[in-house]
Amino acid sequence: MELQGIDFHVHLRDKETVQALGARAHQQARYFGQELKTVSVDELADEYRARRMRAVLMNSSDITTSGVHPVPNDHIAEVVRRHPDVFIGFGAVDPWQGRVAQDEIKRCAEELGLAGIGELNPGRQKFYPNDRRFYPLWEEAAAQQLVVLFHSGFMASGAGTPGGMGFKLDAGRPIPYLDDIAADFPELTIVGAHPSWPWSEENLAVARHKSNFYIDLSGWAPKYFPESLVRHVNSILQDKCLFGSDWPALTPERWTAEFDQLGIKPEVRRKVMLDNARRVLRLP
Ligand SMILES: [Zn+2]
Repeated sequence: MELQGIDFHVHLRDKETVQALGARAHQQARYFGQELKTVSVDELADEYRARRMRAVLMNSSDITTSGVHPVPNDHIAEVVRRHPDVFIGFGAVDPWQGRVAQDEIKRCAEELGLAGIGELNPGRQKFYPNDRRFYPLWEEAAAQQLVVLFHSGFMASGAGTPGGMGFKLDAGRPIPYLDDIAADFPELTIVGAHPSWPWSEENLAVARHKSNFYIDLSGWAPKYFPESLVRHVNSILQDKCLFGSDWPALTPERWTAEFDQLGIKPEVRRKVMLDNARRVLRLP
């Protein structure tokens, strides 16, 4: 089987995960105009096998600010062990847990065999990544050679509710919050997730300036990609952009169908779909 792509941004919707998400899963499904349904990990693995794609699974934790207990990282590790041909796992941490979060990052690498940390969502987790209090976390991730993936730009969390459920958008700005840590941790691989509207240009600038910073193109229908994003993907940032769907928000079918209408060069398409992710994840 020749691999066609690595979907860099996928969330589980199995029974355990949906239960842990509680009301939040309903709000997000509503926002995307979807019905909330569970998909077992075996079904999801089969769907990706049929697409000849692999998937990077991620979750997030904001237990200190929301009181919502996330599915333990052991769950994602178990899912990866069950379908190692398809899944690659990232671990979730709540930065406000400090030393506990730092130890969890270490455990994700050493015990759980996960490949990264994410999705961190500064807006929803109510933290600024460049706050020095969180630097020990990025230091640990760098030491463990874990990729760290941050949500950037507009977020579905809270969208369409009064006050956006209290979440503020500015923490999702790439500059300075992600640019600072990319500068201060040159050995850390950072992914700024999503086209980062309304700060798309900032994401592009950081990716162009810092070789350790990548963009995943997930969670945003490619037909709405800003023209400058398409131009950068097709030229100077062709080695820095990663295919991602943000399933269940978007399906890989919709994403690729729309992406293929953007006039991306075939050799660039292959990099975005596959080769760049392989390099970021250090896959053979
Ligand atoms: Zn996100």
